Amino acid sequence: MAEKPVLTLYNTLTRSKEPFAPIDPDNVRMYVCGPTVYDFAHIGNARPVIVFDVLFRLLRHVYGEDHVTYARNITDVDDKINARALRDFGKEIEDGRLSLNEAIRRVTEKTANQFHADIAALGAMQPTHEPRATEFVQPRGDGKVDMITLIERLIERGHAYQAGGEVLFDTQSMADYGQLSKRNLDEQQAGARVAVDAHKRNPGDFVLWKLSSPEEPGWESPWGRGRPGWHIECSAMSAAYLGETFDIHGGGLDLIFPHHENEIAQSRCAHGTPVMSNVWMHNGFLQVEGRKMSKSEGNFFTISELLHEEKFGGRKWPGEVLRLAMLMTHYREPIDFSVKRLEEAERLLAKWPAGGNPAEGRVDESVRAPLLDDLNTVAAVQALHALAQCANADPLMLPVFAASAELLGVLPKKAEVSKALEDSIETLIQLRLEMLKAKNFAEADKIRDDLAEKGIQLKDGKDPGTGERVTTWEVRR
Ligand code: AMP
Ligand code: ZN
Repeated sequence: MAEKPVLTLYNTLTRSKEPFAPIDPDNVRMYVCGPTVYDFAHIGNARPVIVFDVLFRLLRHVYGEDHVTYARNITDVDDKINARALRDFGKEIEDGRLSLNEAIRRVTEKTANQFHADIAALGAMQPTHEPRATEFVQPRGDGKVDMITLIERLIERGHAYQAGGEVLFDTQSMADYGQLSKRNLDEQQAGARVAVDAHKRNPGDFVLWKLSSPEEPGWESPWGRGRPGWHIECSAMSAAYLGETFDIHGGGLDLIFPHHENEIAQSRCAHGTPVMSNVWMHNGFLQVEGRKMSKSEGNFFTISELLHEEKFGGRKWPGEVLRLAMLMTHYREPIDFSVKRLEEAERLLAKWPAGGNPAEGRVDESVRAPLLDDLNTVAAVQALHALAQCANADPLMLPVFAASAELLGVLPKKAEVSKALEDSIETLIQLRLEMLKAKNFAEADKIRDDLAEKGIQLKDGKDPGTGERVTTWEVRR
């Protein structure tokens, strides 16, 4: 078998770039924290989806399509979801037409469907598994671990305790708690406010389970009817699909603390393992005017608004433009999102050839090498652009361009052209030929440039039979 190329990844756990060595090269396993489905995803949320989609494609390229398992969860249990269900269906619930649980399911179903439609437009592949938190609360009977079982194990092993209507993780019980975020317990204690959460043994202790009031959604458990804390769901679902120790865990920077730190604490203490995931990867923030885009700041645009409404810069933006715009910054750097950046991506895409078959070509080393170096998509996009120019000049290069573009998920599609558009292109071509005959070159060039702007490229040539000037056209994107 051919030697596998070396992939290096920046590991938040060690704060350094390391050669990647999977536990089992026949089954490389990656987990990424997915969306909480109570509202439209914003374009900041699209960043981890796109970044880890590129990594998924790269891992499949290096280890083989059938040798990578990618799990990304859907968080469909959260107090924000309950609040949204009450807001949207309050009347129906009051009238008795809908139970709270049904209302919650409507919110999560609708939002999950919307999320799928949004990210499909961004060219993201389906992960291998997309588990929903609500399906992993109680014992399942299929051998896959669940949240209640994990919490029971943590109590048995002396890492969790019951207090004040909650089950809490005892951070003091774990000697090396805080390795990922490099916080130690003393720092946390000093920073914590006194008198808050008097039932906690240590201020940093976090909720594994909390009791629900009769109106709140809940599941039966050994500690009474209640619902899980946020962190435990990822410990359960990652173990269910990837095992107690796996290769890569990803998400946005904001998840390092407390979410990922606490996932590590739960998983390692429940399984008695030294490691949860070997590599931890975090994408930087997408910002507007220097501030992280977030729901709570109110400075967000949804993916759907960008795709389907004329809200961002007064126009709609194709998904592939948004995707490429993201990849033009390294995943660990912040992105200052702007119309200018989208336009830049759009200009590049317009020059790239469509119609190549990736199956007929090999990924070019100029694109692959930077990706293998901690996902340097910036250099990869530059190399891809150079390849596009080669392919435009030499059709034999088209499959190589296509295979390389596919690795980044930015392969231009051959656009469908309607009959009406076809007719109007033909009319414009005739008009331009007349302008050229009349030596009105400015007008002729304007027609050509306007069409190019729309992705229609004109090619001038000579009819080999008559020697007359002929113009053909093709869709570049
Ligand atoms: P949330 O629904 O807030 O838990 O976010 C889902 C994913 O999006 C997580 O991986 C977050 O880290 C990530 N995320 C949220 N906001 C941003 C942002 N402004 N830029 C980049 N990633 C973000
Ligand atoms: Zn998570």
